[in-house]
Amino acid sequence: MTKIGIVGAGQAGLQLGIGLLDGGHQVAMLSNLTGEQIAAGRVTSSQCMFDTARSHERALGLAFWDEACPPVEGIGFALAGEGPDKLLDWSARLDTPAQSVDQRVKMPRWMDEFEARGGELRIVDAGIAELENLARECDLVLVASGKGEVGRLFERDAEKSPFDRPMRSLALTYVHGMRPREEYSAVNFNLIPGIGEYFVFPALTLSGPCEIMVFEAIPGGPMDLWSAGASPEEHLEISQHILKRFLPWEYERSRDCTLTDDLGALCGRFPPTVRKPVLTLPSGAKALGVGDAVCLNDPITGQGANNAAKCAASYLASIQENEGKAFDAAWMQRTFDRYWDYARDVVAWTNGMLQPPPQHMVQLLGAAGAQPRVAHWFANNFDDPRGFFPTIADPALTAAFLAETV
Ligand SMILES: Cc1cc2nc3c(=O)[nH]c(=O)nc-3n(C[C@H](O)[C@H](O)[C@H](O)COP(=O)(O)OP(=O)(O)OC[C@H]3O[C@@H](n4cnc5c(N)ncnc54)[C@H](O)[C@@H]3O)c2cc1C
Repeated sequence: MTKIGIVGAGQAGLQLGIGLLDGGHQVAMLSNLTGEQIAAGRVTSSQCMFDTARSHERALGLAFWDEACPPVEGIGFALAGEGPDKLLDWSARLDTPAQSVDQRVKMPRWMDEFEARGGELRIVDAGIAELENLARECDLVLVASGKGEVGRLFERDAEKSPFDRPMRSLALTYVHGMRPREEYSAVNFNLIPGIGEYFVFPALTLSGPCEIMVFEAIPGGPMDLWSAGASPEEHLEISQHILKRFLPWEYERSRDCTLTDDLGALCGRFPPTVRKPVLTLPSGAKALGVGDAVCLNDPITGQGANNAAKCAASYLASIQENEGKAFDAAWMQRTFDRYWDYARDVVAWTNGMLQPPPQHMVQLLGAAGAQPRVAHWFANNFDDPRGFFPTIADPALTAAFLAETV
């Protein structure tokens, strides 16, 4: 029986760990937090997940919240102008709803499930010594530590990482009491040119259904008002102040909101970073990075947890296909490359969204306002962003697409 060690009990680590247990492997998972600590901690993400990523969870019997969690049925897009009116406003339904379950709800439940299916969960903040021990004990070591320090042991891949600084100052505000969007629920994405972005959608948190506000402020700009020292009340006030000033239609929906809980607020920033996937430990033993540990995107396109789920599913298939053979560095590189075949388009699209949109993207967004088929294409590509390519990569291809579709 193959023994596999995993560092990190998040979307990638737990989904992969549970999949491996179901496949008959022995799995030891190292987590620096207990389930109780995660549940009692601060929000970490807005974690909106689309159908393909969710299908990987369903396949493992991990979709525990389909009844309790409100669906996200579409994607809306609004372009803010200088005045109180939107310059552009469209929306389209998703073919299959998306869903966001607070990771404080999801991960503790999955940790219990991991143990119930025979996994060994160890609470420890893993560093080099723990990785070395795991490598001695296991046939394969996977590092799924998200933005955790230990992931920095993996070398940054400069070719795949065009930014060396944070491109957005981020904030999350989990609220109750928001006026529901009319017609159908959606990720309402608002673009404020030169200033930032704001998106909001329904989710499930510790206290039941809620809405998650996500702020993406261009660093140093007028929307970058976040301070880690702000009280929960101040954080909510800043959120509403930004909406009142830049997005009055969103302010109207949120003026009576309250925070879901004192830890339902987060702010921070990080540079989007792809890392080389194979780590060589001082002993010469190897470890393979999974999810955000090696492919960390800005949340602007809401893809990180989707990527983590798809990375876990892809690695699970690679591990199963390698049954009886060595998990050496060449296999690790191939395993990452197989995932990267998918992720490269997600990274390219996400990094593109962090820069001022080129003319052909503006044209596409405008066409979506006039033509429901373009809006549908746009919205449903969030599930698999490879669908944007090659159309968005080349103005001539965009023109051809529009000529065909409009
Ligand atoms: C503001 C914001 C909004 C977001 N919104 C979305 C969204 O709408 N949709 C979406 O798809 N994604 C979104 N994301 C991204 C998404 O949350 C992440 O990409 C996803 O959680 C990554 O999963 P992971 O398993 O790789 O890492 P994580 O979820 O970060 O899990 C890593 C785990 O490893 C543990 N760990 C770390 N270091 C160690 C160590 N040394 N030893 C042991 N354990 C360790 C951590 O405590 C954690 O439990 C958002 C992120 C942010 C910051």
